[in-house]
Amino acid sequence: MTPMVKADQVVKNFGSLEVLKGIDLEVGAGEVLCLVGPSGSGKSTFLRCINHLEKVDAGRLYVDGALVGYRQKGDKLYEISPKEAARQRREIGMVFQHFNLFPHRTALENIIEAPMLVKGESRATATERARRLLETVGLAAKADAYPAQLSGGQQQRVAIARALAMEPKLMLFDEPTSALDPELVGEVLAVMRDLAEAGMTMVVVTHEMGFAREVADTVAFMDNGVVVESGKPADVLGAPTQQRTKDFLSKIL
Ligand code: ADP
Ligand code: MG
Repeated sequence: MTPMVKADQVVKNFGSLEVLKGIDLEVGAGEVLCLVGPSGSGKSTFLRCINHLEKVDAGRLYVDGALVGYRQKGDKLYEISPKEAARQRREIGMVFQHFNLFPHRTALENIIEAPMLVKGESRATATERARRLLETVGLAAKADAYPAQLSGGQQQRVAIARALAMEPKLMLFDEPTSALDPELVGEVLAVMRDLAEAGMTMVVVTHEMGFAREVADTVAFMDNGVVVESGKPADVLGAPTQQRTKDFLSKIL
């Protein structure tokens, strides 16, 4: 089966700074990959490459079998048009640390915006799905609330519903609970766990080791632009073989 994400020696530089130094990773359809590692190791950059926010400098990055941002002819790569890139990107949902909801739109309006604007859906169709999604994330009663009237955890759950409204085949999460008060973390992780159980393919950057241990199919530990080790959560988190992984885990656990 074609993996949903495949990174083959992915390299990304910012000027002379090598941020990704040859990343090899694979995420099967329906699987959850948790990326862990110290700040500055390249986790966000890797997600941003998957989501067309950064261009890969070398190597190959595929989503669902298609090269991200390029088309290959023989040995040569050609950049795809912005329109084609937008089409690829539409199939990927991303949730950031900061929720970035439109402050002057209600929860429901935030969720229907992209399907109407990007997919040309009718308001009725988009609204019907949005209400279903609000129910999924436990916020059916908050459809008409403005972001400022919601807690951080609720806002993040709206942001997840908003990403899901585009019916993505892949969801990327970049430290979705890092900006939340500790008592609000659990409700967001619970929504993510439900999503994983429903079969969504997910790449999750997180420091929540409990979540990684219970929900991830694979945990990859990144440090300094490389994947130091990856495997089953029980192995990588419970019995790491690399000193760098041990050092990181001893600090975080
Ligand atoms: P992580 O998410 O693991 O904390 P990042 O992917 O955000 O790491 O960053 C990896 C490295 O790349 C850091 O040294 C960071 O300063 C650098 N970096 C990230 N984005 C840029 C950018 N747009 N320009 C220059 N350097 C960047
Ligand atoms: Mg980051």
